[in-house]
Amino acid sequence: AQERYASIRDKPACTLCGETISLHMNAGLMADLPSLESSGADGVGLFRTELQFLTRSRVPRRSELAAIYGSVMDAAKGKPVVFRTLDIGSDKVLPYMKRTEEPNPALGWRAIRVALDKKGVMRMQLQALIRAAAGRPLKVMFPFVAQFDEFRDARQHLLDELEREDKLGHVLPADVSVGAMLETPSLAFAPRQFFEMADFISIGGNDLKQFFFAADRENERVRKRYDTLNVSFLTFLEQIVGRCDDVGVPVSFCGEDAGRPVEALCFTAMGMRSLSMRPASIGPVKSLLRRVDLAEAKQVIDDARVSGAQSVRPAVMDWLTGRM
Ligand code: PEP
Ligand code: MG
Repeated sequence: AQERYASIRDKPACTLCGETISLHMNAGLMADLPSLESSGADGVGLFRTELQFLTRSRVPRRSELAAIYGSVMDAAKGKPVVFRTLDIGSDKVLPYMKRTEEPNPALGWRAIRVALDKKGVMRMQLQALIRAAAGRPLKVMFPFVAQFDEFRDARQHLLDELEREDKLGHVLPADVSVGAMLETPSLAFAPRQFFEMADFISIGGNDLKQFFFAADRENERVRKRYDTLNVSFLTFLEQIVGRCDDVGVPVSFCGEDAGRPVEALCFTAMGMRSLSMRPASIGPVKSLLRRVDLAEAKQVIDDARVSGAQSVRPAVMDWLTGRM
């Protein structure tokens, strides 16, 4: 399938109206990195760091992690890589970590909640990332932020580690950007100061959608009931983009839906200019984006919204088939 899109691999995802959308890939293993070149992705928009923790019988050593993260940056050859700090709990449980049974793990002690309560592992991971960058730019993103202070505290830990690494004589990253994943509805309503503090926001649509519709992402029966192009959800995404635009913080979407061409089109029509997806989706998404005018797509979405439609999908599909 990659061959089908080879002719546009090195071309930008530029729409008919002249907007260029950056398309990044999601990764989690060193073995994913060759796809950066073969897919033509602009960078790694989400590097999930759980696998190195899940495939061992103990917490990995700092030097081990630094070597892996360094190789990932080497393989990216200067393209940006966004490292997401450990997102465990819920569906990703570390066998060697003591934890108590939780009735609702998806709503439980997970991700940044664990990191802020058990700071040792987070600090070690941040040190590994700083050492891996070794003078190169570093992008770090914290998962599952539900309120401002969680982001502020986690970011402060990173700043503290930078100071500590400096004192120890390590070369600091050329530049550090700190982002938050927006994957709980509460964060969309955080104070303006949160959006000002973040260097970038990445919408984790898999979790955001699960919490928005109160529908378990692991449960097919309820998950499929709610269309991502549901008017309520799209309107919510539009509001998030608006809050980010107000303070000029870049926003991207990195859930699975970013890799579905029609969804990707609707997200960009709602104002997003950056998406991150599995590498195999870059070609199909780029191919569609290069053939559309976003203002027209937005008009179709707006008309569907005022018509009282539950989802904009039928209208968008009609419009697409009419012109392709
Ligand atoms: C998400 O929630 O959309 C996301 C990208 O993170 P994960 O799927 O790893 O929870
Ligand atoms: Mg998530």
